[in-house]
Amino acid sequence: MCDFDNMQTRDAQHIWHPFTQVKTTPRSIPIETAEGAVLYDTNGKSYLDLISSWWVNLHGHADPRIADAIARQAKKLEQVIFSGFTHRPAIELSERLTALLPGNLNRVFFSDDGSTAVEVALKLARQYHVNRGDKKRLRFLAFEGGYHGDTFGAMSVGQKSGFFKPFQPLMFQVTALPFPETWEDDVNAEHKERESLARLEAYLANHGDETAGLIIEPLIQGAGGFRMCRPSFLKEVAARLKETGVLLIFDEVMTGFGRTGDLFACLKAAVTPDLIALSKGLTGGFVPMAVTVCQEELFAAFADDSFDKAFAHGHSFTANPIACAASLASLNITKSKETAAAWHRIEASHKSFMKQVKKHPLAHRARVCGTIMALNVYGGKEGYTSEISSHLKTFFLERGLLIRPLGHVVYLLPPYCITDEQLKTAYKTIIAGLDFLENIL
Ligand SMILES: *Cc1c(COP(=O)(O)O)cnc(C)c1O
Repeated sequence: MCDFDNMQTRDAQHIWHPFTQVKTTPRSIPIETAEGAVLYDTNGKSYLDLISSWWVNLHGHADPRIADAIARQAKKLEQVIFSGFTHRPAIELSERLTALLPGNLNRVFFSDDGSTAVEVALKLARQYHVNRGDKKRLRFLAFEGGYHGDTFGAMSVGQKSGFFKPFQPLMFQVTALPFPETWEDDVNAEHKERESLARLEAYLANHGDETAGLIIEPLIQGAGGFRMCRPSFLKEVAARLKETGVLLIFDEVMTGFGRTGDLFACLKAAVTPDLIALSKGLTGGFVPMAVTVCQEELFAAFADDSFDKAFAHGHSFTANPIACAASLASLNITKSKETAAAWHRIEASHKSFMKQVKKHPLAHRARVCGTIMALNVYGGKEGYTSEISSHLKTFFLERGLLIRPLGHVVYLLPPYCITDEQLKTAYKTIIAGLDFLENIL
């Protein structure tokens, strides 16, 4: 048996893969090495990683600048309890992040992944009100199609994503507002925004003082199908929440660190939330870590002589020094001129492809925001379980491309090191994939 088959067989004996139906999904591909935007399997076959390995990688795989920073930190201080102790990488990272974030987003709480960053944001929102003597705020607002992670709080605010049916009866009370998704040449954007805002206003009139916070993926809903909204909508939402006490939470777990063509979506939209959750790109995609950053005023409401008002929350690996070192190395690259130029280059490239792909009879609602491009494929089933997804995924893999459609939504979310040549290959193969679908659907 060759190494490739041997690894697949052994994998299938003991491993449970995420978001995977074992009975209908082909066996997992063993990846041996990676460099830049390319993954190599155990047979030496290459795959162009057009989804940044589930949206985490920023600058390319195995970047030596981040790898070296990790190695140096691991030999110096690998981990220390973060209650009662601190360390240089965490201090420096908190200084750099808060300097880059807008307004008074000044206080950093570290955790492990996107879901925990969201849990922390939701819990901070609730306890902030309780600490101020306002105990009746038990509700949250979210958006249809929003996805915020797989833990219970994150699932509750992401109920409408449709992934969590068995757990529905265990969730807390969340109202989902319509998300005014828009695309190139959409003539109804304003109408959809007005409807959503009217729903928000009506809700606030009835339940504003029972609501702890509103959570939104700003500018782009990721897992919900790369649905995009206009920056002006975020401004309008923020304006409606003013004076209501409802805290504005931006889940920038996916949009953070340049995906939207700006460092953060909140900067692009010029809206400062009360809390922001960041994770996926934080360490450049090398090791897991997350932060929830909040306004200084929120933090102040937790300071008291009694422990009751403290935030009784923490993870074993809070602010892991190795992850902080990776984040600092990644931030240096993110802040370079080359990276900003890459954002613009990728966006311009996506936009010219969008003009071309729009002409394909199966392609609809083409849209681009920064380094992300998406389109809907109509002609088969819609939604996450659409057969379009598995057909296209296989088609792309056979041709050495890692593109993983979300149901009938095809999207590209490449690492910033991707070359024009590599993007061209991706675009050509997408058109070929649509042609192939046209013949079999
Ligand atoms: C992926 C994602 C999460 C969850 O992050 P995990 O690291 O998978 O727990 C939360 N919010 C958004 C917007 C995401 O894209």
